[in-house]
Amino acid sequence: MSDLNNSNHPTSDPSMGLVFSIQRYSIQDGPGIRTTVFLKGCPLRCDWCSNPESQNPFPEIMARGMKCQGCGTCIETCQNEAISLREGVVHIERSTCRLCMDCVAACPNGALEITGQFLSLEAIFEEAQRDRLFYQNSGGGITLSGGEPLSQPEFAASFLKRCKSAGLSTALDTCGHASWDHMEPVLKYTDLVLYDLKHLDPDIHQQGTRVKNDLILENLARIVASGISRVWIRIPLIQGYNDAEPYLKNLARWMRDQPVEKISLLNYHEWGKPKYGFLGRSYPRNDNPSISEERLKSLQAVMEAEGIRVTIGH
Ligand code: SF4
Ligand code: SF4
Repeated sequence: MSDLNNSNHPTSDPSMGLVFSIQRYSIQDGPGIRTTVFLKGCPLRCDWCSNPESQNPFPEIMARGMKCQGCGTCIETCQNEAISLREGVVHIERSTCRLCMDCVAACPNGALEITGQFLSLEAIFEEAQRDRLFYQNSGGGITLSGGEPLSQPEFAASFLKRCKSAGLSTALDTCGHASWDHMEPVLKYTDLVLYDLKHLDPDIHQQGTRVKNDLILENLARIVASGISRVWIRIPLIQGYNDAEPYLKNLARWMRDQPVEKISLLNYHEWGKPKYGFLGRSYPRNDNPSISEERLKSLQAVMEAEGIRVTIGH
């Protein structure tokens, strides 16, 4: 990717986005073949987050200990004495690090990596529209995800507007925790909203994500009432958090009144676990909250018995 610039984030500059990944040939983020642009920054802190590098709204260093040879070059480079070796492997003291990124360039073994780049809207759009033939043939398009894309609302609106003006279909993958003033201008250029719903109970929602769900439920109601965009609701199923059958029955009954196009159950996976270590953080859960395929199907049946259609996976 080009246009790298690690200065302070121009959050209100609609022509720049802080991106941590652009994924082509995605089939999990809406219909057809898509390109998903992942923006950095999220107001939630879900215990099961598989992309912890998506959460903070600034570039960060990922230190991959398995690649570190303990040569000490980064220690000599750092002007802030933020690096040491622990058991022969690089350790960054995050409270001292000034994120100058000098050590990343200095490491001869590629053990240090920046996650998060400020890219111009046009650079992101150029990358995103490369597979437009695939989108046309498969009914796909562009998905803006995160992190939470509405944590960069001006950029999100400008980017999706650019996609729409080029005739591309657009989707917004959101946790819904954003002010309506930020959400509405983005919806104007969004064909489909992928709305993540973690829990209906405000206290349990807060336990798992660190925020209450009042704004999330209010925004969902406003989106479906406005009819601006189609809506798919996606429920990440987490063992011991939102997978109890009585809760899922209640959820299904509540869903019956939501005029949405699709409801999906997403299974948890642990692929993101090593990334917590790369970021110098501990993994928030010490169990494996994923659910077996068999149980997932039985929970799907529990919900469908309440009169709604539920799919497994995106
Ligand atoms: S980013 Fe800069 S301040 Fe932080 S550890 Fe590396 S060289 Fe030191
Ligand atoms: S420069 Fe790279 S390989 Fe050498 S100690 Fe630092 S992180 Fe490890």
